[in-house]
Amino acid sequence: MYDLLLKGGTVLDPSTGLAGVHDVAVQGGLIARIAPDIAVTESARTIEVTGRIVTPGLIDLHAHVFEGVARNGLDPDLGGVYSGVTTIVDAGSAGAATFGAFPRHILPRCHTEIIPFLHICQTGLATNPDIIAESSVDLDDTLAVLDQYKGLICGIKARMVSPALEIMGMEMPRLARRAARESGTRLMVHIGDTEKRYDPKVIHSLLPLLEEGDILTHYFTANPGGVLDANGKLVPEAREARDRGVWFDTAHGRKNFSFDVGRRVIDQGLLPHCISTDLTVPGRIHTVHSMTEMMTRFLGLGFTLAQVVTMCTENPAKAIGAGDRLGSLAQGRQADISVLDIRDGEWVVYDVLGASLPVTKAVVPYLTVKKGQVFTPDWGPRPWGWEPDRVLPSGGSSGGCC
Ligand SMILES: [Zn+2]
Repeated sequence: MYDLLLKGGTVLDPSTGLAGVHDVAVQGGLIARIAPDIAVTESARTIEVTGRIVTPGLIDLHAHVFEGVARNGLDPDLGGVYSGVTTIVDAGSAGAATFGAFPRHILPRCHTEIIPFLHICQTGLATNPDIIAESSVDLDDTLAVLDQYKGLICGIKARMVSPALEIMGMEMPRLARRAARESGTRLMVHIGDTEKRYDPKVIHSLLPLLEEGDILTHYFTANPGGVLDANGKLVPEAREARDRGVWFDTAHGRKNFSFDVGRRVIDQGLLPHCISTDLTVPGRIHTVHSMTEMMTRFLGLGFTLAQVVTMCTENPAKAIGAGDRLGSLAQGRQADISVLDIRDGEWVVYDVLGASLPVTKAVVPYLTVKKGQVFTPDWGPRPWGWEPDRVLPSGGSSGGCC
């Protein structure tokens, strides 16, 4: 007898190539069977999902859920299982001095799986700016914390922003890289100097530091230090990094996502591997809203649903080294499943600069299954729920940017 049967949904799992109407049976927290017709008598509980899309559990590769310690850290389940997301990668909200609060206070009280990166700044994002002196980075202490929490910390995060770069220059990402290599983890680098003070050419010396398996995040940023040169041309180091296996993630956030930059890099052949949110408390309200809205944005940019699902399931799972456990509905995998509604209509979404993109399909979470446990998404990040701003007959929209 199965524990749970999702009946009649359209399964879309790029990792296995499965696309079509199938039933999904779950037992003991694992995917037990996927087949065109599994009898309801074989399961203790059945949920009818006809007309919905059933995908591997969505993975948000970049969000901030160190609630109560890092400024603006979101309740993990609000951005997680109650938003259709089964796994959140916390992109370096904690540093060596604050990390202990993650296993002590955050992880035990949420249903969403959290995979944390450690910030090279020892106080993480508890204060803003993060790095304010060379002493903000303590490599020995960082290595000690990486060792203490081996298997939990997924990698090291560095942010290419001022004043960190003004104080430490390239020594800052080099130290982060050393911590990643010595701990046998990976490096995730934020690009885009939100203070707009540092030399944009820094990207040329940064990208060669990244090796296969490292992650570049915010690469649709319009801030200095992005992957486009002054003439809008993709810097050659970006293509070289992609070719040697660096993951490219778009991470929206409140300051680092531009449709114009995105179109230019896509037109020049550098497609995203992952499309994370960089979700925070204010980001959820004002700019990003949700992981499913990120999916909506990329459908609007012309990607197929299968491509979009790949970018928030199979690819992020591989990027965090969990491709054998997450990001797939293959039999025997952890039963992490997202059931989504794809609605037709006329909406508009905005980037952080206020540029608009009309969209005719909106992705909305319907049901989340985490390790076999079922969660119903909450009301949604907007006053009217999950859908983006509606296009009004006047040509305006129901909401607005930022
Ligand atoms: Zn972030």
